[in-house]
Amino acid sequence: MSPTPSSKSNASGTWVGIDLGGTGIKAGRLNEAGGDRKRAEAETRVHEGPEAVVGRMARLARELGVQDHLGVGVPGLVDHAAGLIRKSPNLAPLEDFPLRRALAQELGLAEERVHIENDACVAALGEHWLGGARGLTNVMMVTLGTGVGGGLILAGELFSGSTGLAAEIGHVIVDPAGPLCGCGNIGCLEALASATAAERRCVAAGLGNSLVAVCTRAREGDVGCREVLHAVGLDLGRGLAAALMLLDLDAFLIGGGFGAALDLLRDGIEDGLLERTYGRSREQLRLLPAELGADAGWIGAAKLGSRT
Ligand SMILES: [Zn+2]
Repeated sequence: MSPTPSSKSNASGTWVGIDLGGTGIKAGRLNEAGGDRKRAEAETRVHEGPEAVVGRMARLARELGVQDHLGVGVPGLVDHAAGLIRKSPNLAPLEDFPLRRALAQELGLAEERVHIENDACVAALGEHWLGGARGLTNVMMVTLGTGVGGGLILAGELFSGSTGLAAEIGHVIVDPAGPLCGCGNIGCLEALASATAAERRCVAAGLGNSLVAVCTRAREGDVGCREVLHAVGLDLGRGLAAALMLLDLDAFLIGGGFGAALDLLRDGIEDGLLERTYGRSREQLRLLPAELGADAGWIGAAKLGSRT
């Protein structure tokens, strides 16, 4: 029997991933078992232009010992076919720039060995591989930060949809009479339950503009603070209900900076989920904390690059 071409050539050695953010580039490497981790960082400085950003990304990848593939997570809408960022408020100078081709050329890789994906999607992939979503089959990761991001694992695989726009849970409309969202629609989940929105709701309730301080006071038992966070959680649950009814998920994984307040949001999220779904009991709802923190993105990106 002649030996078959081994797929192991891509499944061993060093995997490098890059999480390209609006202000910083987080990169890292690990092996196929998730061990031997090493991180490297640089400022994005996107105002210096796409070539400069690509140069910094390539330098980090080389420092980390990039081998035959590279994965990249980006905060925006990704055109997979073209290998570029179609829309990104935080990285506007990179919109429509041939990012995949430029990175491949810079690193001497074949273009198909460079993978670009939305940052919430790679975070979900990272958490599914080595974090809080390990072992789950159908799970949505929800990232609560400046905005609300979503990443979806279905049947154990990252699902990004026909055009890469799946799991944009932040722009599900929860309250048609609610606040204006950055996307132009009214009452999106993001406009009600992101860290930014929560902060605005704290100010409106006369609790000051520090979400961290409001969370601290809520944990100390302050009723007003607890009520605002319950209301934020309720809207979050109402938005997530659409995903639960559509996809019958095992769990939601809550991450992002504001995700650290899951203990304070949990009751509200459960109330919102139960209000807008049927056939569910509170005991069936699984809201899990993300575990990888700021490493989820580059770890998922590294995994992304290993899939082919
Ligand atoms: Zn929106």
